[in-house]
Order: sequence, then structure tokens, then C-alpha cells
Amino acid sequence: MSSFNFDVITLFPKAFELINNLGVITRAIDKNLIDLNLYDLREYGEGSYRQVDDKPYGGGAGMVLKPEPIYKAYESIRKSPKNKTLLMTPQGKVLKQKDLARWSILDQIIIICGQYEGFDERIRFLADEEISIGDYVLSGGEIPALSIINGLTRLLPGALGDPESLVDESHNSCLLEYPQYTRPLTFRDLKVPDILVSGNHEDIKSWRRQKSIERTFQRRRDLISNEDYKKSLQSKKIIKESNQFINFKIGNEYDNYPDW
Ligand code: SAH
Repeated sequence: MSSFNFDVITLFPKAFELINNLGVITRAIDKNLIDLNLYDLREYGEGSYRQVDDKPYGGGAGMVLKPEPIYKAYESIRKSPKNKTLLMTPQGKVLKQKDLARWSILDQIIIICGQYEGFDERIRFLADEEISIGDYVLSGGEIPALSIINGLTRLLPGALGDPESLVDESHNSCLLEYPQYTRPLTFRDLKVPDILVSGNHEDIKSWRRQKSIERTFQRRRDLISNEDYKKSLQSKKIIKESNQFINFKIGNEYDNYPDW
């Protein structure tokens, strides 16, 4: 199987050493499911100081990444037939699970990481999509890039030991996952719900679905009221089912978040 290529332009390639200690992701590299190529922006810098940043025109705090080194690094990357270029920026579209799924059928993702106060506006022309990993500001695009590499890799065929684990998890089908338990049966007086040890698979399945719906309504109602999603058949089914459950006590005894 040909591997999925991640090509990352960064001033801090060392940040990606973390990949070597990330379980599933490390195994995906060992199994040749993914290839990670790092382009050290400094090597594309200008002059004897390898300059990559400069003061913003018009004044203001901090330094801005210059366009030339990023364009040079970008142009040195070999492009695969099915590639997309993502620019990391808090001004981008907020990353969703469905974006990772959408990109997982490509064969190459090129990621441009910003630093300092950001980058020259002309760098935006390189991007197919501008992506934010949340409404907060980090010091660089490396952690956002790692999030994308991590989240996308676990979706690739062969990456997870048991691909079934992808089916029920949070943010698939706009529902959060149901509560999970493992041994011991009783931990500090907190007992595993009886139904999970009943051996009745049908009952377990419907309990899990109910908990998933309750949880989503309690914590992330926005996932279900999202305009696109509201129109879908799946959503209509969930809303209908939720009417049966919503009068029940919401959440289980351990997750009482009054300010949620
Ligand atoms: N002054 C800029 C933010 C610069 S933060 C602004 O207001 O838009 C420096 C770099 O970190 C950014 O260029 C981007 O690459 C990265 N970054 C910071 N927060 C991010 C986020 N939430 N999502 C994606 N990238 C982010």
C-alpha cells in the first residue's frame, strides 16, 4: 500500500520528534502507512543570517514570516496527485472530525506552520484551506499540525489495531461517545452500571445510544442543532429518540457539571 505523505514547513522541526512517541502514529510510520517530511524554514531563509521574518509594514508589535522562504520551501516539495495545502491560522475554519475524514482519502497533506505574529498575507495564496484548531492563539502552527497528522493518521486503513473503534467514537455522526468502563467493577464505591455486565447485547446497545444522545444534549447541543446537520435524516432520528430520553436524568452519577 502506498503511504500517505505529510509535508510540513516549519521553523521548529524538532517539535515533530513527538511523533516518535505517539503509539498509534509511531506504529503507522513503522508500517509505512505515513511518511512525514519536514522542511526546516530556516534552510530557506535569506542572506547569511538565513532571515525568515521581518517587521510588519505600517508598524505594530512582533515579527511576521516573510513570503520568499515559505514559497521557496513550498516549491521544493514534490506534489502527489491528490494533495491539499493547509495553512495553520487561528483565523481559519475550525477543524472538525469530518475534515479529517475528508482529507484521509487524499495521498498528501502539505502543512504550513506560522510563527511569531503570523505571516505575510501573500502566503495565504498557497493554501487550499486555512485551518484553526480552536478559538485560542498558540505561539506557532506546530501543535495544530501535529493534531491534524495525529487525527488523520488514526483514520487510515491499518492504523488502528481494531478499526471498529472508529465507528462509535465522539464526533462521528455528531454524537459524543457513551460512558466507558473497565475493571474493577467497583472503584472507590463507584460501581459500573449493571447493564454493562448483564451480557444482554441488545440492551447494552440501546443503553449506549441513549447515553450518547443524553451526553450530546447535555454538553454539546450545538452539534445537533448545527444547521447542516439539522436537515439530515440521522439528525431527525436522533431528535425523535432524544424526546424519549430527555426527561430522564441527564448524564450519569459521575458527570455532574452544573456550569456546563
Ligand atoms: N497574530 C496572529 C496569530 C499568530 S500566532 C493572528 O492574530 O491571527 C502564530 C502562529 O501560530 C500562527 O501564524 C499560526 O500558524 C499558529 N496558530 C496559533 N493559534 C492557532 C490556532 N488556533 N490554530 C491554528 N494555528 C494557530
